[in-house]
Amino acid sequence: MTDKVVVITGGSRGIGRATAIAAAARGFRIVVGYASNKTAADEVVAAIEASNGKAIAVKCDVAEESDILALFKAADGFGTLGALVNNGGIVGTSGVRVDEMSAERIQRVMAVNVTGSILCAREAVKRMSTRHGGQGGVIVNLSSVAAKLGAPNTYVDYAASKGAIDSFTVGLGHEVAGEGIRVAGIRPGLIDTEIHAAGGEPDRAHRLAHMVPMKRVGTADEVANAIVWLMSDDASYVTSAILDVSGGR
Ligand code: NAP
Repeated sequence: MTDKVVVITGGSRGIGRATAIAAAARGFRIVVGYASNKTAADEVVAAIEASNGKAIAVKCDVAEESDILALFKAADGFGTLGALVNNGGIVGTSGVRVDEMSAERIQRVMAVNVTGSILCAREAVKRMSTRHGGQGGVIVNLSSVAAKLGAPNTYVDYAASKGAIDSFTVGLGHEVAGEGIRVAGIRPGLIDTEIHAAGGEPDRAHRLAHMVPMKRVGTADEVANAIVWLMSDDASYVTSAILDVSGGR
């Protein structure tokens, strides 16, 4: 148990929501970042408070550096930062080939998934690193099995953004390993959330479930359980490592 603060980007829905609730149950004070869905973020805060946990909701589009600075400022006012979950992420429309992609689409995916995660990690390291007077902590980055599979004919730009996250996890982990910070990645497979609808194909995860060795989609709770384990002292010798939570995919 810890009473430290965890910042979760995209904590309002899906995997981030499940992580917020699971981390609150372990005593973390939760900063629920959300891009635009205030109603969903407020609902997560209410659910945590109903279980005697502590949480606040803060608007943060991670493509906006000023939003990220405001997110961490709010976290500073809430307690001592102990963890960051770089979860907020997007896909472009599914089924678009690279030779059909607009520059705006690619830039948006990279700005949210890659630059946003790196900037959030920068703010977390400034606060948690013993080099800066901090007490250490954990950063968990949400990748995807798409980083390994490449997502051809689906969203190669998204897969490439998650490949960048995998490199970032390894490199940052080494950079701060002597400063009390562990950095780990999670590569979810087909998880039952609204991200597939956002890509224009709500049924995508279920349609492809037969391709998963375990023959089913995963739940947001199953990913959240792996994230909170990585955040815990039970994972005290785990850094620069990436865990597949994908039913074998
Ligand atoms: P989701 O259900 O679509 O939820 C997305 C969350 O991210 C929401 O809380 C949303 O906030 C937030 N978000 C969207 N754009 C953002 C932005 N620009 N800045 C900050 N936050 C933003 O997604 P999910 O399936 O839970 O995915 C979470 C993470 O897991 C993502 O990084 C995704 O790439 C990764 N992942 C998911 C799957 C899967 O099958 N679901 C598989 C592999 C990896 P609002 O509520 O305000 O819109």
